[in-house]
Amino acid sequence: MGAASVSLVEVGPRDGFQPIETLIPTARKIMFVERLHAAGIRRVEVTAFVSNEAVPQLADAAEVLTAAQALPGMDAQVLVPNLRHAERALAAGAKHLAFVVSVSEKHNRNNVRRAPLESVAEYARIVAMLPADVAMRLNVATAFDCPFDGAIAPETTLALLDHLVPILPTAEICPCDTTGRVTPDRVAGLIDAARTRYPQARSWAYHGHDTYGLGLANVVAAWQAGIDVIDSSFAGLGGCPFAPGATGNVSTEDVVWMFDAMNVATGITLDALIAVARDGAAIPGASAGGRVRNALVAASCRSEVA
Ligand code: MG
Repeated sequence: MGAASVSLVEVGPRDGFQPIETLIPTARKIMFVERLHAAGIRRVEVTAFVSNEAVPQLADAAEVLTAAQALPGMDAQVLVPNLRHAERALAAGAKHLAFVVSVSEKHNRNNVRRAPLESVAEYARIVAMLPADVAMRLNVATAFDCPFDGAIAPETTLALLDHLVPILPTAEICPCDTTGRVTPDRVAGLIDAARTRYPQARSWAYHGHDTYGLGLANVVAAWQAGIDVIDSSFAGLGGCPFAPGATGNVSTEDVVWMFDAMNVATGITLDALIAVARDGAAIPGASAGGRVRNALVAASCRSEVA
């Protein structure tokens, strides 16, 4: 079985807010991060340092990062697509970078306009200038499935990891199910194969989507395979703007409700999280996912009737 506790990485403020076209006021973003922190969340992907023209929603990255880092015990991670934006993030005080590369060439070109091996070289350049006190998360997008090419064979993902892992074996490596089409057997299969192949890499995470209703099943598969760092998004916000149809990261409140019931500690208070998730689902232009938020409302209605 999996670990007795899991660490959730709340990706809503980045992955969830990024596809929302209506600009969310910076103060409101910061309020969401503060309320997520108050609910017990201690690791958040708070923003991305990317082109302001390409992603106007995240043009306030430095301000949101600074506010998040002021919260006690908060590990605020920021996504960076290349060296230039990594330098911007470090100049803004970032202590935890997340780099993303897709296994699929088409997806990587759509996402960052490079071939995967060009992203590998860019990752090496970032790692080479990384200060000793800055942590690195390596997100491996389309690790199982690509919106353009369909299923990705484990050998293809491992072949890219053969280039990536030696660059920084201490990085936290996160295979991402970008489309939500992976199944639990394949999640466990890739994780088992990767952990066997790279014994020097000790930190692994999993990022999945609930697009086909398999979000929680895949989280359990990752947990049973020994992963104790799981990405999720409050209110199930997010997806990938370059992966058509990939709506909905697995929702944090669904993951917390499940692990609570399994007596696996998350450190998160569900009631407080639900209140934030309800407000997250109501953000203009947001498309929310997840089940538990509405299930708990229905349950409280029934108890009032009874
Ligand atoms: Mg996602």
